[in-house]
Amino acid sequence: MIIYGDYHTHSTYSDGKGSILDNAIVAKNKGLKEFAITDHGFTHKLYGVKRSQIESVKLDIEKAKSATGVNILLGIEENLTSLEGNTGIIESDLDFLNIVNVGYHKMAKADTKKDFFKLFLPNNLKWYTKRQIEKNTICVLKAIETQPINIITHLGVGMPVNVEEVARLAKQKGVFIELNGKRISFTNKDMESLMKYDTDFILNSDAHRPELIGDVRYGMKYVLKYHIPDKNIVNLDKRPNFKKLK
Ligand SMILES: [Zn+2]
Ligand SMILES: [Zn+2]
Repeated sequence: MIIYGDYHTHSTYSDGKGSILDNAIVAKNKGLKEFAITDHGFTHKLYGVKRSQIESVKLDIEKAKSATGVNILLGIEENLTSLEGNTGIIESDLDFLNIVNVGYHKMAKADTKKDFFKLFLPNNLKWYTKRQIEKNTICVLKAIETQPINIITHLGVGMPVNVEEVARLAKQKGVFIELNGKRISFTNKDMESLMKYDTDFILNSDAHRPELIGDVRYGMKYVLKYHIPDKNIVNLDKRPNFKKLK
C-alpha cells in the first residue's frame, strides 16, 4: 500500500524548511506520483503566503516538475476566520489554486472582534465548554456549506467539534477528512461516527521539512486500528477525485 500523492505540505513560502524543489526531490525518491504545495494561507498573521508571491510559487512549481517528473499541485492551507465559517479564499484565488485545504489555526486573523472573542480566544485558552463546541461545530459546518474546500485539515485539533455532524455534511459535500501526519484528535467515538457516515479520508503528511514529505505513518495507525477500508482512503494507490471548486 502506498499513497499516490501527499496533499498537505509546506515550503519556505510559509513556515516550511524546504524549497518546492527540495520537497519534489523527496517526493520522487519516495515514489509519490504527485504532491501539493499547501502553504499557510493569506489570513495567517505570522507566515502566510501572499497573493503577490503566487507567480513565483507557480514558477518554482514548473521548475521542480521538470527537474523531477513529479506532478505538483498548487494548493493552500487556509484558515477558519469567523464563527460563520469564513476562510481567506476569494473567488479569483480559484483561478490559480488546484486544491484548497482549510483548518483551524490559532494565529489566523479573525474577521471581526466578535470572531476573535467568541472563536479564537476561548479555543486558544482551551475553554472547551459544551456551548463552545457547538459554536465550533457550526463554524465548520458553515465553512463546508459555503466555502470552496477540498480537505479539512486536522479536524478538531485546537478546536473541538461534534465530529458526527461534520462527518455527515462532509460526505454529502465531497469534502475529504484528513488523517494528519502529526496531529489527530479523533476519539473512538469520533472514529465510529466517521465510519458510520462512510467518510472519505485522505492521508497527508503536513510536512514542514522535506524529509517528511509522504510520511503518513501516524495516519496509517488509525487506518489499521479502525480497519478503515481501502475504498475510504482517497489517495491510497489512486489519484483522489477532488471536487471542482468553481
Ligand atoms: Zn494546519
Ligand atoms: Zn499544515
